[in-house]
Amino acid sequence: MARYRGSVCRLCRRENMKLFLKGDRCYSDKCAFDRRGYPPGQHGQRRGKYSDYGIQLREKQKVRRIYGVSEKQFRLMFSAADRQKGITGTNLLSNLERRLDNVVYRLGFVNSRTQGRHLVKHNHFLVNGKKVNIPSYLVKKDDVIQLREKSKNVQIITDALSAVVRRGIPQWMSLDKDNMKGLISGMPAREDITIPIQEQLIVELYSK
Ligand code: SF4
Repeated sequence: MARYRGSVCRLCRRENMKLFLKGDRCYSDKCAFDRRGYPPGQHGQRRGKYSDYGIQLREKQKVRRIYGVSEKQFRLMFSAADRQKGITGTNLLSNLERRLDNVVYRLGFVNSRTQGRHLVKHNHFLVNGKKVNIPSYLVKKDDVIQLREKSKNVQIITDALSAVVRRGIPQWMSLDKDNMKGLISGMPAREDITIPIQEQLIVELYSK
């Protein structure tokens, strides 16, 4: 399926929560969800009740949109999580958190996962000293994520780093701001993912 290219703020309104897809704008009074917190479209203001299937579908779409993953990729990630030991839903969320585009966002090198995906693709980051330009690359414990020397002065990166305090950095990673370097000190546990997600609904949807 093609990547969604419309207004991302519509996605927040569709999912009925702020998905923080637009960096700084999400924290400003220009946020479309804060201004119009109802679904987009002509009939958005009179949405009815969802069926069980509808609730499960919306939860899956919400998570997919937060992490900017295509339907096909999401399905593959679900299958991989299902094959892993442990709870499928938790494995899925943990793997989504470990994606490199998410990690550079969490570390504060960028203001959104979309920006993270662009900069990863454009070779701005090294993982353990090697160039990695695959946004879906899964980091593991003890990986070191750093900026390439020539990227340290890129304006959007320096701006993002100065704003990271607002979001905070998850406890499974640490940031050496002076050297623009991040360390993955552990694997993300369920309690580290504070976005309100009911992953069980996604498991139920894909188990039909
Ligand atoms: Fe969502 Fe608001 Fe950010 Fe737009 S500005 S992406 S509505 S949180």
